Amino acid sequence: MTTPIITPTYRIEQKRRISGSFPGPKSAALEARRAAVVARGVASTVPVYAADADGGIVVDVDGNAFIDLGSGIAVTSVGASDPAVVSAVQEQAAHFTHTCFMVTPYEGYVAVAERLAALTPGDFDKRTVLFNSGAEAVENAVKIARSATGRDAVVAFDHAYHGRTNLTMGLTAKAMPYKTGFGPFAPEIYRMPMSYPYREENPEITGTEAADRAILAIEKQIGADRLAALLIEPIQGEGGFIVPAEGFLPRLAEWARANGVVFIADEVQSGFCRTGEWFAVQHEGVVPDLITMAKGIAGGLPLSAVTGRAELLDAVHPGGLGGTYGGNPVACAAALAAMDTMASQDLAGRARRIQDLVLPRLAGLAEETGIIGDIRGRGAMLALELVVPGSKEPDAGAAKAIAAACLHAGVIVLTCGTYGNVIRLLPPLTIGEDLLLDALDVLAGAVRTVA
Ligand SMILES: *Cc1c(COP(=O)(O)O)cnc(C)c1O
Repeated sequence: MTTPIITPTYRIEQKRRISGSFPGPKSAALEARRAAVVARGVASTVPVYAADADGGIVVDVDGNAFIDLGSGIAVTSVGASDPAVVSAVQEQAAHFTHTCFMVTPYEGYVAVAERLAALTPGDFDKRTVLFNSGAEAVENAVKIARSATGRDAVVAFDHAYHGRTNLTMGLTAKAMPYKTGFGPFAPEIYRMPMSYPYREENPEITGTEAADRAILAIEKQIGADRLAALLIEPIQGEGGFIVPAEGFLPRLAEWARANGVVFIADEVQSGFCRTGEWFAVQHEGVVPDLITMAKGIAGGLPLSAVTGRAELLDAVHPGGLGGTYGGNPVACAAALAAMDTMASQDLAGRARRIQDLVLPRLAGLAEETGIIGDIRGRGAMLALELVVPGSKEPDAGAAKAIAAACLHAGVIVLTCGTYGNVIRLLPPLTIGEDLLLDALDVLAGAVRTVA
């Protein structure tokens, strides 16, 4: 039994509405101003400018209302203006916006750390350190692992995405657009084969065997005694929403534990109820040594965290971790409110309900059109991989065309994947059922047209 979606009350009418020319005149004017002053390197998926957002709807400056299947890349899981988050932010901002936790500490930071210690898997003493972005959390998890183990090497996987700073670019797999022209990258990063069930050469390979393939390569190419950390997204995000075969993550975690290697789960995208559990590792009972978190943590405010075993985090000397804004008090207040909403509205249950609504519809669509090679994901982190019919040849053009058709009909969907051929669905977990079904009808229409 899954939890039925309770319809919360929304501030904005939850209805798709596209009027007149598109993008409208106000968005077009902003686009022209932008071209003169904003760096070209920062690209936007959608050519319209946001004016308001709530529940499953984003309204643009011309009054068009889009159904949001992206949540600003898995961030606004509680909606983009959750009343609890809004009032927590207002309340905190009215008192102080910043003191710097490294100068004058405050309760919100401590309360977030307490909450993360309780929510993250693992029945042991934990510590937390807060930052601003996912990349910063990953960088610091690696710093902690190196400091605690006295080792240098770090393993990341094929199709991985860990961020855009120098170290995290090195950890990220895909060159274009993330790495091309931005090197040299940090040393002592080793890339290992992922479990990617749809694209395995041997379709019979089990998760455990895929893990052993990576472990053998680690032992031969690096040596376990040189390895500080094994870093992995339990469900890969930008790489294509790849869910490793069952047994892959548990086997890697077990090997890491046996070899004194820090197992870091990068839950920046998959965390905070997105996959139907608080954290994606929980689907297979995996207990990471360190977890990196960001995106969904604070209802849209910039906050990230590393939580994990006390002896690892506390191996770092005082003053070795931090940053001016890390654990900003307004962001901490937002995080506490967002986590309250996730718990009180059972957003993990709603994510599971979203999966139950979406997957059968996508399966029917795959059978009907022949251009969907794989459907995968968990909870409200779901994807379809587009291929040339009758083959597994990636069809990035189809993904792009489907996303464009959806947008013109008033639905925001994002693409991803090493081959650019994956459509990912990341609705806010507070989206109403009718709105979600309307968006799926639009998506189905777009897939049929492209097929
Ligand atoms: C988005 C993402 C990051 C980087 O987070 P930023 O906040 O953009 O720095 C790291 N890891 C994963 C898995 C992500 O999805």
